[in-house]
Amino acid sequence: MKNNATSCLSQPYPKMIKPEVLAPAGRWEALEAVVAAGADAVYLGGKKLNMRMWRSEFNFSDEELRQAVEYTHQRGVKLYVTLNNLYYEEDLPELESYLQFLEEIKVDALIVQDLAVVDLAKKIGLTRPLHASVQVNIHNLQTLQAFQEMGFSRAIVSKDLSLEEVYYLGQATGMELEYFVHGDLCIAHTGQCLTSAIVFGESSNRGRCLKPCRWRYRVVQTNDGSPVEWSVPGPYVLASNDLCLYPYIPQLIQAGIISFKIEGRMREGSFLRPLVQAYREAVDRYWEDPQAYRLDQTVWNSLVNHRVRDYTTGQAFGLAGPTSIGFSGEREPHFPTRAITPPTLTEVELRERPNNLGVDKEPEKRPLTLPELSVRVGSLAALRAALAAGSRTVYVGGEVTGLNAPVWGHREVREALREAHSAKAKLVVLTPKITKRTEMQELARWVKELAQLQVDGVMVGNWGTARLVRELTDLPVYGDTSLNLTNSLAANLALKMRIRQGTVSLELSADSLQSFLENTPLPLEVVSHGHLTTMILERCLPRVLKGTIGQPEICPRPCVETELALMDECGQKYQVKVDQFCRTHLQFPYQLCLLPILPWLLQLRPCSLRIEGQYYEGPALARVVQLYRKYLELALNQPESYTVSLEDWKDLQKINPDGYTLGALGV
Ligand code: SF4
Repeated sequence: MKNNATSCLSQPYPKMIKPEVLAPAGRWEALEAVVAAGADAVYLGGKKLNMRMWRSEFNFSDEELRQAVEYTHQRGVKLYVTLNNLYYEEDLPELESYLQFLEEIKVDALIVQDLAVVDLAKKIGLTRPLHASVQVNIHNLQTLQAFQEMGFSRAIVSKDLSLEEVYYLGQATGMELEYFVHGDLCIAHTGQCLTSAIVFGESSNRGRCLKPCRWRYRVVQTNDGSPVEWSVPGPYVLASNDLCLYPYIPQLIQAGIISFKIEGRMREGSFLRPLVQAYREAVDRYWEDPQAYRLDQTVWNSLVNHRVRDYTTGQAFGLAGPTSIGFSGEREPHFPTRAITPPTLTEVELRERPNNLGVDKEPEKRPLTLPELSVRVGSLAALRAALAAGSRTVYVGGEVTGLNAPVWGHREVREALREAHSAKAKLVVLTPKITKRTEMQELARWVKELAQLQVDGVMVGNWGTARLVRELTDLPVYGDTSLNLTNSLAANLALKMRIRQGTVSLELSADSLQSFLENTPLPLEVVSHGHLTTMILERCLPRVLKGTIGQPEICPRPCVETELALMDECGQKYQVKVDQFCRTHLQFPYQLCLLPILPWLLQLRPCSLRIEGQYYEGPALARVVQLYRKYLELALNQPESYTVSLEDWKDLQKINPDGYTLGALGV
């Protein structure tokens, strides 16, 4: 199935490849149903280390997995096993033995999110092919190449890519590309949604999402909570409709997609069978005679009549507009949760809970040192304030959101560098977490300029930008939270990819953070204060809500009309920030503040603590930096008597009256 990349690009008429129909199975009866329906391949998961873990009656025991391999192979069907969680340090021993088992039973491929699997695969000499999970969020060529170099034979590319973008990726790499064609959709960029982890302590990157995107929200003005004047069609503003690309079989094949993936591992066989049959029959019919191919109206009517939610084509043909959202909630089959108020820091907790995080064991006793204190700033004025308050690493750039936000171009970065260096501080330039093809071109030029300016490092938001910076410059590479580092093996691989310093994922519990930091070979930063982005959406939410996406006129820029927030049923406001690339960043209602747990955090020896201060004015930022410096000293020298004073707590409240949280460490 593999093409040669060079020959592909030089061919004016690339060869079409007949795709496989890839079906899900959560139980044995579903496996039988989808095989009988004509699936070329089936993907399923075990009872452990797998997404979709809420319902114990689903997924396959080790013995069932062994039987499933026999069952599918006897029928000429391939079987892929989902090993697609992010893994925490405590999962690693089990992961290694499970990999050995999957090697022994000869599954046809493993679907993988976490780089720990790559490391272990080398260690045990795994011969099973690796497929990069959609959770990796492969949305640019360089990320795809990075995974190709790591030995992946296939990638399930981001659902936020259009077919045109997928075609380009396939042609440029010759890699097998899989694409979701039917089923549930996340509204957020896959692998970048932290809401469930921070609200409930249940990570969507570990298959435990409790779906805050299916809550009711009111669209309000950020400042006073009054409703916007636009007519929003309903309260379920983040509830994506279901993907259905059945009417577009020719376009999917023409895009070079090698595997048509149907979502639904929690579905019954009776639901999946006709669905798989529909795609099977359409693919075969098109392949047999593309000229004669027409949509089968009867099958299409049946798919529509048996739909769960309404259908959308997602981002396959460009940005999804308002019809991609089930605003009314009428067709929502199940609302797993409603909005709750997550734990926030009260004055009492701040004073009484310095070390009590419910961790199972005490951190290892090691000599303590003060970590660096880095600060992300949003303007030159804030940079000056942070430097004056004693910060010795400043981050600038990346996504810029908000009305009239300062930009970070050549002139501003040069000025920031001058100021940082005269204060004997480092200046590291951020790159966006999501960087699609056109932005990569821009970024390639930008990182070369940064190398000429001799900045002290570049912070990368995805594995593709890490590869780009490595390839084009000798600049030190810093990894951002969006690399989703959660264990020492993944960190080790990052180190080998010339990442000098990583940032710990924001979804870790206290126990998992502790064991990660105690074992990591890579210096790690912990984000300790400031705004938390819990979802990144490919599209501009104000445009979707105002109904103007997809219209041919020039964008009326509703993002600058007013500052929006989504207010949940508990009255909590998730601010809607739109960046320079028209992507939406949803902000958690409470800001992170780890001041109360600094004595514990210090024992884990992170190399750096970060203040996410990009939305702070200079004086507020300076005060926060001062507080962290003061309490870090206190935590180092007098951990037993450590408390945050009432006076300082009141200052923090003045800076952010909406309240603070310990994030995933506090739930
Ligand atoms: S809450 Fe986030 S991860 Fe969970 S289903 Fe919604 S968009 Fe996806």
